[in-house]
Amino acid sequence: MSIQVLKPKFHVDECLAQVRECLEKGWTGSGFKTAELEQRWKEYTGHANACYLNSNTSGLHLAVDILKRRYGWQDGDEIISTPITFVSTNHAIMYEGMKPCFADVDRYLCLDPVDVEKKIGRRTRAVIFVGYGGRVGQLDKILEICKAHGLRLILDAAHMAGTRVDGVFPGTWDGVDATVYSYQAVKNLPTGDSGMICFADAELDAQCRMLSWMGINKDTYSRTDHQGTYKWNYGVDHLGFKYNGNAIMAGIALAQLPYLDEENAYRRKLCAIYDEAFSQNEKIHIIEATHKEECAYHIYELAVPDREGLLAELAKHEIYGGVHYRDNTEFSMYRYAQGTCPVAHEISQHLITMPLHLYLTEDDVRKIAGIVNGYVV
Ligand SMILES: *Cc1c(COP(=O)(O)O)cnc(C)c1O
Repeated sequence: MSIQVLKPKFHVDECLAQVRECLEKGWTGSGFKTAELEQRWKEYTGHANACYLNSNTSGLHLAVDILKRRYGWQDGDEIISTPITFVSTNHAIMYEGMKPCFADVDRYLCLDPVDVEKKIGRRTRAVIFVGYGGRVGQLDKILEICKAHGLRLILDAAHMAGTRVDGVFPGTWDGVDATVYSYQAVKNLPTGDSGMICFADAELDAQCRMLSWMGINKDTYSRTDHQGTYKWNYGVDHLGFKYNGNAIMAGIALAQLPYLDEENAYRRKLCAIYDEAFSQNEKIHIIEATHKEECAYHIYELAVPDREGLLAELAKHEIYGGVHYRDNTEFSMYRYAQGTCPVAHEISQHLITMPLHLYLTEDDVRKIAGIVNGYVV
């Protein structure tokens, strides 16, 4: 049996029961299951607000859009971001006519506070922090920097479903304006595609609900006296988007959520086996994590001298590694920033993602680690 780098595990019977309920009720759109999921997510994470969306990408876009409106940011203003991420993070900035200003990464492959501070300029308005692989990195220091310079902070928590620090979800820390989770097909809480945005501020959450549903203002309609009549009346004051989540995806998330913590604990167990196996190999650089015991470990990364060679060696054994991520400044879209993040650029050529998922046994991981240690000498 071949081993894939990522493989989602679905609790099929529970998922199907949820979907069946939606189909029998004849309600697959927003509302019903989506409201229940928002409530459960708030209870699970401690976030004050939660708005269910069709993806994390939509959520990142809405975070930038809504903060831009609130704080009067202009086109061409800058948001500091990381080059080591899925392009969604940086596209979200571009959707709003703003400009990603790339800061370098630290040894957790998260934004380096020292370089972030250096990159702050006259037009800097915010920072988007990616909790790479579920890691928290130096988010606490970035938060302090944002406070000191009056910058807003968006947390791209696509990898962080379940990550805590001393029992607390870092997205709930004071000073994080918006936290955006992904429930995309291979993330730790997989659905088909969907995500959750959690604003600290209830007014921004309300605005997000309106903008994620075409800018339809339901206040108009709740103000109208429509006792016993079809509630047809509403206003549209803004150019909103079709970004809402649906009941089918929410049902799958509801079925998966009760297992998330135990599944993350299993991921940590597998990572500890990798850590142990590679700790003696001087040629292998393990990407560390702060708060390892509470990290959701979406992906497990190594930096090795010959990444392509190792990928090919693993493939001979039908084991498939991956690469997360290419330095975004290598893409033509972001080429303007080439050379601004030397650490990210160098390490991204050596990064390899080891298989990590819930179908792997501890023996599988030992076997994979053995092959890696046999090749990287
Ligand atoms: C997956 C991912 C996204 C996008 O999430 P979607 O739900 O697929 O839109 C954004 N940022 C990072 C770091 C991701 O890994």
